[in-house]
Amino acid sequence: MEEIRVTERTDVLVVGAGVIGLTTAVYLAEQGLAVRIRADEYPRETTSAVAAAVLGGPALADPAEAANWHPYETTKKWHQIGLEEFATLATRPGTGVRVTPGRWASRQDIADTSWTHLLPGYRDCTAEERAGFPVAFWMSLPIIDMPVYFDHLMGRLTAAGGQIEIGHVASLDEAAAEAPIVVNCTGAYAQRLTADPEIRPMRGQHVVVENPGLESYFFEFSRGPKPTSFIAHGDRLICGGTADRDNWSREPDPVQTEEIISRCAAVEPRIADARILSVEVGLRAARPQIRLEEESLGGARVIHNYGHSGVGVGMSWGCAREVEQIVQRTVHN
Ligand SMILES: Cc1cc2nc3c(=O)[nH]c(=O)nc-3n(C[C@H](O)[C@H](O)[C@H](O)COP(=O)(O)OP(=O)(O)OC[C@H]3O[C@@H](n4cnc5c(N)ncnc54)[C@H](O)[C@@H]3O)c2cc1C
Repeated sequence: MEEIRVTERTDVLVVGAGVIGLTTAVYLAEQGLAVRIRADEYPRETTSAVAAAVLGGPALADPAEAANWHPYETTKKWHQIGLEEFATLATRPGTGVRVTPGRWASRQDIADTSWTHLLPGYRDCTAEERAGFPVAFWMSLPIIDMPVYFDHLMGRLTAAGGQIEIGHVASLDEAAAEAPIVVNCTGAYAQRLTADPEIRPMRGQHVVVENPGLESYFFEFSRGPKPTSFIAHGDRLICGGTADRDNWSREPDPVQTEEIISRCAAVEPRIADARILSVEVGLRAARPQIRLEEESLGGARVIHNYGHSGVGVGMSWGCAREVEQIVQRTVHN
């Protein structure tokens, strides 16, 4: 991937080029700030590129569940911003975003179902569509083909004069010596840059197979380490998944590959014989709540924006706007 035009001034140094860092950088650059990203990996190599990716619909609409990520009202606001932003992107060609109906299923009963009818395109599944899950319904939400979406964001970053460079940041002090504002978007690796005891990796594996002709998606939102999902992006079908806490390995696990295919095939038999194209692994930044807050470091301000667990794609635009508000306050004080 090409390196982007270098400007002299840096208002904001964003550390990390996953969906959180890149979206934050695009949003700030489009507001006229001089933004530079430094990251160990380009966007397409990050955990974010492994995501399938859907917006965290039911989980975020359910107040009890959403409060796990941040105070409920804040999470709801960020999620709503994401829904609107991605719905708009879905109307433009080449963004990798489209709005499509999918089945959402859970092995656990939902205690309070008063919110489900608020979900867009909501309707109950038939007994056959339920595939043995006690809770299952359809709804229409944006889904995102991450590699294509990253190309779209990179184009916007370039157009807005932002830069990206590959390089390791050994400490936030080092970053703070380079720019008046640093945004820490290092995902699970924030554990290595901060003294935060709450951030941990949550390994997730996907198996990408040749799409046997599916158009809608299936997403299990039960709590547990083995949620079943398959999401179609053109010729590719992304099958999941796993959620292994405190596991830093990004190596594919062949046993998990078999389990994923067999769980997905139990819902959609055509997946059983689909040709495997690749196996992808990412590390979710698991944290009881998203960390989005600022602190002083030397003469600089560091804004932390990490810990998005399994909802980083959906939260990316809401969190980017929150960062921008902090930046504006900092710049004008
Ligand atoms: C299997 C799987 C499925 C998922 N599905 C969904 C989904 O459907 N919907 C959804 O919303 N979310 C989903 N997620 C979660 C989502 O992928 C994450 O919340 C999101 O990727 C977090 O993005 P991030 O930018 O914070 O981190 P990352 O994508 O991990 O990016 C971190 C960046 O920081 C850089 N970095 C780290 N440390 C340093 C350092 N010291 N110096 C320089 N650079 C550094 C890395 O190189 C990288 O560029 C899924 C995750 C997985 C694993």
